[in-house]
Amino acid sequence: MMNVPFYSLDYVNRALGDALRESFSDVLDSKWFIRGNRCCEFEEAFAAYCGKKACVGVGNGLDALTLMLKASILLGRMAEGDEVIVPANTFVATVLAVRAAGLVPVLVEPNRDTCVLDVSRLAEACSEKTRAILTVHLYGRLADMSAICEFAKAKGLLVFEDAAQAHGAALDVNNLSSLVSRLSSNAAAYSFYPTKNLGAMGDGGAVVTDDLELAQVVKSLGNYGSREKYVNQYVGVNSRLDEIQAAILLAKLPHLDAWNARRQEIAARYCAEIKNPLVRVTPVPANPKSHVWHVFPVFCEARDDLQKFLKDRGVETLIHYPIPPHKQEAFAGALSRGELRHGNLPIAEELARTELSIPMGPAMTDEQVAYVIETINAYAR
Ligand SMILES: *Cc1c(COP(=O)(O)O)cnc(C)c1O
Repeated sequence: MMNVPFYSLDYVNRALGDALRESFSDVLDSKWFIRGNRCCEFEEAFAAYCGKKACVGVGNGLDALTLMLKASILLGRMAEGDEVIVPANTFVATVLAVRAAGLVPVLVEPNRDTCVLDVSRLAEACSEKTRAILTVHLYGRLADMSAICEFAKAKGLLVFEDAAQAHGAALDVNNLSSLVSRLSSNAAAYSFYPTKNLGAMGDGGAVVTDDLELAQVVKSLGNYGSREKYVNQYVGVNSRLDEIQAAILLAKLPHLDAWNARRQEIAARYCAEIKNPLVRVTPVPANPKSHVWHVFPVFCEARDDLQKFLKDRGVETLIHYPIPPHKQEAFAGALSRGELRHGNLPIAEELARTELSIPMGPAMTDEQVAYVIETINAYAR
């Protein structure tokens, strides 16, 4: 029997050990821990990596989402009470952010095969109060941005991206510098939670956009609503990317593409070699660079049984996510007040009931990948 962890941070830490230690001691010696040079340097580097004009570092991914939406309200592009279309099968933070900005999430079914927003369901989800689409690149797979942006343009809606799982996913295989959100999305929110494809050593997040005005307001909102010290223009919060996190991210960013390429290699093997009628996988997209496989999901009606089978054979798995947002107690009040809307969501509910995330990450060896495949193929009820 082989032990295969769900995800190993060890590998990245060992591979970059000296560089990470150097980053720590640089920040220590600089005696400057918040809003210094490293944050600026990382913001510039990550904006350039994403092919966008501006990046604003914030405290975490939830804040990146919330502040991006709040800034759009402050700039008069949306108003509190407006409806925002969100896929129903997302991590709770996407929906929390919409509520925190005083907006009304409208939950929409995903495509059952790709698990991202089903564009054919956008029209029926719209009402006269719909102002924006907040799409989620779930598991690292880019949603169909050209179709979403085309729909939004025709309806006069804003488009935002929850890119917390999709660092480095590329839209166009012929133009690798054309990354997430190159199309006309208004802004994308990232998380640098330690286990994301690009992770810090604590919390971190960023808003990436071509809209310099929006970037300026996000930056101000994260710093008490202040641009100039002790002059407060907005009711802001304290949400900033620490120097230590920025330094770690700067050391890791040059390796992101190689790590994602390894994930894509592993996913291609999983897709081709997992052959069990009880286990469904999601397909590799036509443009393989548009999926960075933050998570490799499989779907099985007897999910809990499969999870136990794999655990007994040394394969660690997780569930993303067992309870969809519309079933969470936290939103019961909003639902009853009409501050969260949805129709029937059989696909989102099926995915929550059957999803199992199998080991994935640049640390995996070919032997581990083969063992996971072999073990899943041996599963029978
Ligand atoms: C991780 C994640 C977030 C939240 O990021 P934090 O940095 O943990 O606040 C939001 N949305 C999605 C889809 C995520 O995976």
